[in-house]
Amino acid sequence: MEKIKMITPLVEMDGDEMTRILWQIIKDELIYPFIDLKSEYYDLGLQYRNETDDKVTFDSAYATQKYGVAVKCATITPNAARMTEYDLKEMWKSPNGTIRAILDGTVFRAPIIVKGIEPCVKNWKKPITIARHAYGDVYKGTEMKIPAAGKAELVYTAEDGTEIRELIHNFNEPGIIQGMHNINGSIESFARSCFNYALDTKQTLWFATKDTISKKYDHTFKDIFQEIFDAEYKEKFDAAGIEYFYTLIDDAVARVMKSEGGYIWACKNYDGDVMSDMVSSAFGSLAMMTSVLVSPDGKYEYEAAHGTVQRHYYKHLAGEETSTNSVATIFAWTGALRKRGELDNIPELMSFADKLEAATIKTIEDGKMTKDLALITSLESVTVLNSADFIKAIRVTLEESL
Ligand code: NAP
Ligand code: MG
Repeated sequence: MEKIKMITPLVEMDGDEMTRILWQIIKDELIYPFIDLKSEYYDLGLQYRNETDDKVTFDSAYATQKYGVAVKCATITPNAARMTEYDLKEMWKSPNGTIRAILDGTVFRAPIIVKGIEPCVKNWKKPITIARHAYGDVYKGTEMKIPAAGKAELVYTAEDGTEIRELIHNFNEPGIIQGMHNINGSIESFARSCFNYALDTKQTLWFATKDTISKKYDHTFKDIFQEIFDAEYKEKFDAAGIEYFYTLIDDAVARVMKSEGGYIWACKNYDGDVMSDMVSSAFGSLAMMTSVLVSPDGKYEYEAAHGTVQRHYYKHLAGEETSTNSVATIFAWTGALRKRGELDNIPELMSFADKLEAATIKTIEDGKMTKDLALITSLESVTVLNSADFIKAIRVTLEESL
């Protein structure tokens, strides 16, 4: 078979620990034999980030801005223990945070659905994609403990010195206060990323806040979404046969539980933090969650939602067999290849991505899977494979389909 040719390189961001091991096997077994891979390689493994004073992370994000599509392996976010383990010069920031800040993007997380791994919510038949606004609110909040009776106010001082004041509370006793903010530009980027991703994936978009109580703060989110939708997206949504609708967060939660899935749920920062863990655990497994960062100007970075699976890596280093699930990492590759195919008009690349996803799902549905899935599957006769053999089994299924 002739290998599929590419036009524009994919930005490839390698990573750490067990996922770095999977990364190499995925490329050797599922990519190189079928695609004449054009990639611009960035090693985001912690050692090389440290050697380059983290410049490599910045360069990989700039390359994503230039080429438009990246695929990223999970990476270590350093903490105190990693400082000694890797003899780091500095506690480098989370690569995901750095890349997200440069691309000004929104993260969309969606579960991969297979027969035999049933969601806890029995009416969920299709994926629910969560879009979480990644800037501000309580994550950039300022808090104060009020020690005793007194007046607390919100004060805004304009550049010319004029002030606007709002009473928070006249305290008669100790209490607490909190100040938080957001920026219209960030909310606008969030809205555009959501609308673009909805059009891209042909899914209806929900957005919910508590605007009935928060008449200025949350209401601004609602208004910005509606203004951008009406001005820039309404006709495109009509043509694509999808909808945008706004509802209250409590109504959204109730509807999500009764729904069959198949839509995007856009959440403010805190709601997204909480709801994405609820939705992903209810769908079965973190190892089956994909994640894509979409910038408002249409740049894409695909990855798995899970981390570097450190515990398995230490087993691997000790020479023990591992059974680490590579599905979300494989889907990061297929997502990126499909998008590259779409942008460069290479139908073979798009169809290869579809076939690789189908082969991955079929392998599991045929009863061949890693240990994490074997523990939760409703399928009866199951073969538990090690990390490498699972990927090789997918290759066999894939070759049968080509
Ligand atoms: P993790 O790598 O997601 O793993 C937590 C546990 O979840 C694992 O020990 C394993 O459970 C299970 N698991 C996750 N992915 C799996 C897979 N593909 N196959 C099988 N089991 C899987 O989270 P962590 O251990 O808290 O973090 C490890 C490192 O990853 C940290 O240094 C963190 O900074 C980094 N991290 C990176 C990203 C990213 O790059 N996007 C995201 C999160 C965390 P069992 O041990 O029970 O088998
Ligand atoms: Mg969280």
